[in-house]
Amino acid sequence: MAVLHGPNDLRIEERVTSAPLQDEVQIHIRATGLCGSDLHYYCHGKNGQFALQHPMCLGHESVGEIVAFGPSSAKSKQLKLQQRIAIEPGRNCEQCSYCQSGKYNLCKNMRFASSAKTAPHLHGTLQRFINWPTRLCHPLPDHVDMHSAALAEPLAVVLQAFKRSRFVKGQSVLVIGAGAVGLLACAASKHFQACNTSAIDVSQNRLDLASSLGWCDSTYLNTNANQFADEKELVQHIKSTLEGIDQDGFDVVYECTGVPTCVRSAIHAAKPGGVVCMIGMGHPTMTLPMDAAALREVDIVGVFRYANMFPQAIELLSNSPVMASLHNGKPIVQAILSHKFPLSKADQAFETMKAGVSADGKGVIKAMVVDE
Ligand SMILES: [Zn+2]
Ligand SMILES: [Zn+2]
Repeated sequence: MAVLHGPNDLRIEERVTSAPLQDEVQIHIRATGLCGSDLHYYCHGKNGQFALQHPMCLGHESVGEIVAFGPSSAKSKQLKLQQRIAIEPGRNCEQCSYCQSGKYNLCKNMRFASSAKTAPHLHGTLQRFINWPTRLCHPLPDHVDMHSAALAEPLAVVLQAFKRSRFVKGQSVLVIGAGAVGLLACAASKHFQACNTSAIDVSQNRLDLASSLGWCDSTYLNTNANQFADEKELVQHIKSTLEGIDQDGFDVVYECTGVPTCVRSAIHAAKPGGVVCMIGMGHPTMTLPMDAAALREVDIVGVFRYANMFPQAIELLSNSPVMASLHNGKPIVQAILSHKFPLSKADQAFETMKAGVSADGKGVIKAMVVDE
């Protein structure tokens, strides 16, 4: 397993995996996508206020196959040996009022794989074998490939955002930040039939990718923001530049950067009565133009992980034409997977993410660690 001991100190260690308990199954992890929180732990030994208190295995966007059953999980009708599954990485308590009411993402007793929020930390999936509760293992259809399916976790976040923003077919969408999550938000907007999807980023390559995959209608390269007096002026300019945009603004803005100036822009970009959905969180405290929100009835909604979104995420990755149809011989959605590394070279995956670009000049969107 790949164990993080401290900042920039990732070690491959041999550990014996115990037999699965009660309702657990043992899973051979085949692929784990790395996300921003993993990178924060790798670079700083902490993610926001949650610091590593003992060595921990990172990774929580994963798929694998079942190799053993615990005493009571063997009776599971849904799961069989060799069954391929996506792992839902949060172990909620199932007892509290949030769990009982279906909002288990807000469970106060949640133990999330590869998060240092609770101690002892729950190891993540950058390891060969892991034992996991049956109820958090989501079966994959036979025709979906493992690497596409490993995007179920970040896509679940996006689906939670679409739910929280009360998105309905025919609305217009602006996505700010076209990293892996922003790109998936663009794709989801197409799946759910937005009338128009626009994307903003500081990287032309990412915007070109979003356009070439058919995931957005117009893009804006945001590299000249300081030419404008404030975000309101910037947004005026953006709206006048993008084609086919209602000058009142967008029905829903998905903010995927967490950068204060982008959040301010998001509020100005939403139309009166619109919604700003905060998917990225970078700064705990920021100054926002509350008049532009309150006096125009723009709702600002947050997203914290997801509840009950894995089945739909897997369904989209398996069957949505927007994600699963072939592009250069591979499912379209795999265009997000820019880099792959074997488990033994997990440290290289993090170093490449840290650099933002690999030696061949290719920009990192999503790095994946695979064990085949
Ligand atoms: Zn994550
Ligand atoms: Zn709970």
